[in-house]
Amino acid sequence: MPTQVQSYAAYAADTPLSHYRFERRDLRADDVAIDILYCGVCHTDLHFARDDWGMTSFPIVPGHEIVGRVTGVGSEVTGYQVGELVGVGCMVDSCRQCSACSDGLEQYCENGFTMTYGSVDPHDGTMTQGGYSDAIVVSERFVVRMPEGIDLPSAAPIMCAGITTYSPLKHYGVKPGHKVGVIGMGGLGHMGVKLAKALGAEVTIFTRSESKVAEAKRQGADHVVISSDESQMAEVAETFDFMLDTVPVQHDLNPYLNVLRYDGTHILVGLLEPIDPAVNGGSLIFKRRVLAGSLIGGMPETQEVLDFCAENGITCDVEMINIDQINEAFERMQKGDVKYRFVIDMASLKTQSAA
Ligand SMILES: [Zn+2]
Ligand SMILES: [Zn+2]
Repeated sequence: MPTQVQSYAAYAADTPLSHYRFERRDLRADDVAIDILYCGVCHTDLHFARDDWGMTSFPIVPGHEIVGRVTGVGSEVTGYQVGELVGVGCMVDSCRQCSACSDGLEQYCENGFTMTYGSVDPHDGTMTQGGYSDAIVVSERFVVRMPEGIDLPSAAPIMCAGITTYSPLKHYGVKPGHKVGVIGMGGLGHMGVKLAKALGAEVTIFTRSESKVAEAKRQGADHVVISSDESQMAEVAETFDFMLDTVPVQHDLNPYLNVLRYDGTHILVGLLEPIDPAVNGGSLIFKRRVLAGSLIGGMPETQEVLDFCAENGITCDVEMINIDQINEAFERMQKGDVKYRFVIDMASLKTQSAA
């Protein structure tokens, strides 16, 4: 029998999220059933709820930064047991056979990965629904283990914001001696700073606003550069090995490319739109610079970043909310009024449902 679950869903692009009851599937042989304890609130949730990308099928239950406890396992599950603390991130399935999947890079699955919400489940044709709910059922391949002692609410955003910044830093081999610049100080940026520091790099935050300097230092940045100040930008020209660019809206990359030394790499993790203004090819060619992109991270790497955060005492700065504060949280998030991630205490959904 499928299980009835409680959730908060968007029923249309222009209405607030509200209560929604729906069914989670029976356990398949490789499935893990999870009671959700906490769920982070990502910008993608907001975009999907408001159909900003024109691909939302309503009603939709957002949420892909999930922490919970295993309540049941399918007959072939070997990695998890009832009672264990686990996480689920942005993906819940992929073809599992292509070269990307074989490499543990399910986010680049040649047949497309199944998003935690807003995707059609390739097995039964239903829409996937995310973590703003009291329970979820996920194949064990797409479940990760919470390391011993990790703070659970602040671990939730590692499932998206953490892995999105960790994956490129690891892929490009960031290590002691490297200079890393981080552009943007939101959920992704602040995790990027902490992770790059823990990997041993010298980290600089680039911000347009003088008012953010103290906060940037508090986040652990070694230096802060005001990117709108041409003299400050000129001072650091051709000095960086990597620029981690978390800005999700169009911006001029050319001034940032110029701060890369030769062979430096500018990594986009937030911009999904055409680059405008255009990038000067000469600035790439004359210094053999690389302009790159990176999407979340694979499942083995997601486990790795959780373990890395636990070992290095890295947590995401979170503000806890109850589920009935989600619409207000969306409003505040849009204004950049959160340091740095809202996390929903899902116990609040149970008390809501009882009321
Ligand atoms: Zn996300
Ligand atoms: Zn695949």
